[in-house]
Amino acid sequence: MLYVRGHPSDYDDWAAAGCTGWGWADVLPFFLKAEGNQRGPSALHGAGGPLQVGEQPSPRPVSRAFLEACAQSQIRLNDDFNGPEQDGAGLYQVTQFWQGAQRGERCSAAAAYLHPAMERKNLHVMTGARATRILLEEKRATGVRYRRGNHEETATARREVLVAGGAFGSPQLLLLSGIGPADELKRHGIEVRHALPGVGRNLQDHLDFVMLWKSPDTDTVGISAVGTLKILAAMRQWRRDGTGLLTSPAAEAGAFLKSDPALPRADLQLHFLVSLVDDHLRKIRFGHGYSCHVCVLRPYSRGEVGLKDADPLAAPRIDPRFLSDERDAALLAKGARITQAIMGAPALEPHRGRQIYMTGRESDDELMAHIRARADTIYHPVGTCRMGTGEDAVVDPQLRVRGTERLRVVDASVMPTLIGGNTNAPTIMIAEKAAEAIRAAR
Ligand SMILES: Cc1cc2nc3c(=O)[nH]c(=O)nc-3n(C[C@H](O)[C@H](O)[C@H](O)COP(=O)(O)OP(=O)(O)OC[C@H]3O[C@@H](n4cnc5c(N)ncnc54)[C@H](O)[C@@H]3O)c2cc1C
Repeated sequence: MLYVRGHPSDYDDWAAAGCTGWGWADVLPFFLKAEGNQRGPSALHGAGGPLQVGEQPSPRPVSRAFLEACAQSQIRLNDDFNGPEQDGAGLYQVTQFWQGAQRGERCSAAAAYLHPAMERKNLHVMTGARATRILLEEKRATGVRYRRGNHEETATARREVLVAGGAFGSPQLLLLSGIGPADELKRHGIEVRHALPGVGRNLQDHLDFVMLWKSPDTDTVGISAVGTLKILAAMRQWRRDGTGLLTSPAAEAGAFLKSDPALPRADLQLHFLVSLVDDHLRKIRFGHGYSCHVCVLRPYSRGEVGLKDADPLAAPRIDPRFLSDERDAALLAKGARITQAIMGAPALEPHRGRQIYMTGRESDDELMAHIRARADTIYHPVGTCRMGTGEDAVVDPQLRVRGTERLRVVDASVMPTLIGGNTNAPTIMIAEKAAEAIRAAR
């Protein structure tokens, strides 16, 4: 639910890399068009768009203590990460309905765009369907084969096929359709319909290292008798007026930090969570606590997505190659040290219990061992159908698959490089811009 666009220069970097029409001045109008911000319209915010963006109704006290700890660590406070300056510490704005009957509910892309359009005669939504192949006549996309239950069916396209399977699903579907690196296709016995070496390459993701603290503060989200009673009370409050604990995005506060003050933009991001999130919540921790995540905003490491086999229902092969570039490891370690220092500031004293896994006195080697053992994705994969020019680009700046006709990719996979922030709002911006390109082409 965190509403973050990244840094304006991220988009200028895209334009400089050959994505004509995707500089900050080009994309800002589409961010504004999508946005329905509770703060009202301004030069940097839209208020009339379908994507509801609002303040968190009920942040936990420990999130405020985190902000105070940041201030005590000489980090400036910033109440708008999408404002004139990105760096600093603050509460995240969230994609949540802040008005009307749905107040306090997540405003997903489906809630913002799809649900209001469900009655349109030219829209047919099919759930439980898996696209297995794009149909091609020569290089022209004519439809999609899909599986639903035990049935294999075809949807034909009069105008275009738009692929929006995300950074893992889109390259997988292109590969299953014979569009991709010839060697990868041949390895799986798939006929090469269109050789495109960049499909699945250039995978980038935010690698995240989390530090966790137990806490006596039962206003955090935790597994305890008191915590259960608070959740039950929160359910009643949420039903009553759409506020309270259940509206928490968990990652309530955060910061964009420069590892070196001389840098022109932040290269690290913090997510402060009001619960103990260990191994994506796969490890259950009893009791209360909080966690702070740090990630490297623009990693150098590149991974790839391919096929495990030619079975369209199988999961793709994902190799993120995290930390394959030593510069990422060094910056993440530096970020972990900065985070540890913030978390030791006096403001968090009343909330602070024992740190889990670490002591804060680790040597450089020990810290790196922790990072290599526990750092993991914070769910921002992009880049596997890279937009741009050159042999490795998969789509052109109109998001058309290069060398084909009537086929576009519209999702996070087209980002040529990871932006310095969370990727939901940028993906919605990409979709808004694609809609305009499609209209213009008609
Ligand atoms: C746990 C989690 C938390 C996140 N939190 C935030 C946040 O707070 N803020 C933020 O900005 N970003 C967040 N993100 C990132 C954000 O959700 C993504 O960047 C965004 O959803 C990317 O959109 P997309 O359309 O590219 O892909 P997706 O949203 O992944 O959509 C792709 C869809 O295509 C479907 N699909 C794939 N292949 C096929 C196929 N062959 N046939 C049919 N359907 C297929 C998938 O099931 C999926 O529904 C989070 C991600 C995760 C996983």
